[in-house]
Amino acid sequence: MKPSSRIITSSFLLLMALSLLKGQMIQGYTNFSVEILNPTSIERTWNDLSLLYQNQYHTPEEVIAELYQLNETAPDLVNLTVLGQSIQGRDIHLVTITNEQITTPKAGVCIISQHHAREQISMEAALRFMIRLVNSYGKDEALTHYVNTEEIYIIPTLNPDGLHYVVGNDTMEGDPWLRKNLRAIDDDNDGECDEDPYNDVDGDGIISGYDVFGKGLSDLHFMYSYYEGIDDDGDGRVNEDLIGGTDLNRNYDYRWNDSSLDTGTGSDALSETFPGFSPFSEPETQIICDFMTSHSFSMAMSLHSGINTTYFPWASGSTWAQSDRYHDIYTDLKSRLPIYFFDDYLRAGLYPTSTQSIAYTSAGEWGDWAYATQGVQVPMTFEIYHKAGSEEYVAVEFENLTHKIFRFDTIEEYFAPPEGKIDALWFDILPAFDYWLETTPQLEVASLTVIGNNSEGAELTIKFKIKNTSPRVTTIAEVGVFDEHLIPFSGTEGIVVFSKLIEGESLSGSFKTILNHELGVNEEFKLFIGNNFVGFYPMIIKQSIIKKATGYFDLIGFLLAIPVVVMLKRRKTSVKLAGC
Ligand SMILES: [Zn+2]
Repeated sequence: MKPSSRIITSSFLLLMALSLLKGQMIQGYTNFSVEILNPTSIERTWNDLSLLYQNQYHTPEEVIAELYQLNETAPDLVNLTVLGQSIQGRDIHLVTITNEQITTPKAGVCIISQHHAREQISMEAALRFMIRLVNSYGKDEALTHYVNTEEIYIIPTLNPDGLHYVVGNDTMEGDPWLRKNLRAIDDDNDGECDEDPYNDVDGDGIISGYDVFGKGLSDLHFMYSYYEGIDDDGDGRVNEDLIGGTDLNRNYDYRWNDSSLDTGTGSDALSETFPGFSPFSEPETQIICDFMTSHSFSMAMSLHSGINTTYFPWASGSTWAQSDRYHDIYTDLKSRLPIYFFDDYLRAGLYPTSTQSIAYTSAGEWGDWAYATQGVQVPMTFEIYHKAGSEEYVAVEFENLTHKIFRFDTIEEYFAPPEGKIDALWFDILPAFDYWLETTPQLEVASLTVIGNNSEGAELTIKFKIKNTSPRVTTIAEVGVFDEHLIPFSGTEGIVVFSKLIEGESLSGSFKTILNHELGVNEEFKLFIGNNFVGFYPMIIKQSIIKKATGYFDLIGFLLAIPVVVMLKRRKTSVKLAGC
């Protein structure tokens, strides 16, 4: 074949192919526009709140009054519900703080306060945190963003019966040392429950506690504690059927009652860490089980006091469950909080690898259960108060060559600061609460494109790039694309896992879906990117232009190609001749 013939033939075939291809492209050409729906803030209509009961520890009734005030002040931001009742029938309240006008499921985080009755400061901190969120909304950009994009669940007191007893009341003498819940147990098997409790023997209005230490050659070692009391039931023994039953933070169904871990295991209901008669035997812990099982929390925090530290799983083991991640968080917290919050670690010489289990191991503990069974990525037990330097708040009651006895008159300066210092402590620990919101995994959809065909049965490919906007390390796993019913779109590609996420990191993924009907012009459909832990980020996909080709236009294109081929052939030939 001559070169000129070769050119004609190949040009002709190329144009034919192009024209066919063009026809195909026209037939399938769609133009999808994508709108990412950013959250809009609620218009603020309220003035800053203060606590109704300031500079004092709250009773259960006063806690409830604060919750109603919050809810009434900012009803679009605050939701107040009752999760159930304590063993004595008191309501256990749940406060949800979020932008309620955004109904898409958001990243869920929760704080549970006051498993332990005497740790009143944990409940006080929760109340102040709620006030801070409501007062900061619309004023503080970062906190407004968290409230818009997270659902913040707060249980201010899990042990309202214990709180009622600790603060004292009209019908019975309070015991400020109570740790457990108020399940009635016949500790001494005499057919009666709780009939030989502690008593204020010296009538000074305080039940004093005593710690007995033994003196060795060079050390002073703790031996046991006892409290003021008399033989209330006349059986010759003192304080042998106490008020207070189960340690709620030993009653969870993870390594429950494991005697290799905890001194409080077994059937000794007088033990301060008695785990109950079965896992979740207590209504209070059953409420947490039901609540957490019906949500997906990436972050959850339990507030305690009596030591200054932050615990991560495993309470029941000797290592951190995720040492890299937890160590990073621990280090961050350490940089934000006053040094005395880590004093207990430092004194123990355990930093930086401390876990709860180094201080002591616990069986049936909340954080381990949340991590092991609920998928909570970062359960933190934040112990917010302990006054170091015992000589400041403990009197030496007795001392000889072999023993030394310290007397504690109040829980103040042990589990909680004096009332006048509550706010000062709150401002000290506040950075940890803001940090905790910041640490919650959040996404931003950096880009999203939809490629495909608008007709029924056609396959759409949805390509997305998501960016981690959590400023702190965390994990976002199995991010997917969902329809408006939050049912995942089909497709095996595109499960995105951030194993250790650094701010600004982005990853891409894509999903495919089959259209179940032909999309019309300007017809919209909504899709969501996310998962149960980070929430669902909504987008509107709209097909704004549709161009459809028919066989007629294909034929015209084909016929038009012929004269073009002829013209090309002539030009090419003449150019070639001129060159010779
Ligand atoms: Zn505690």
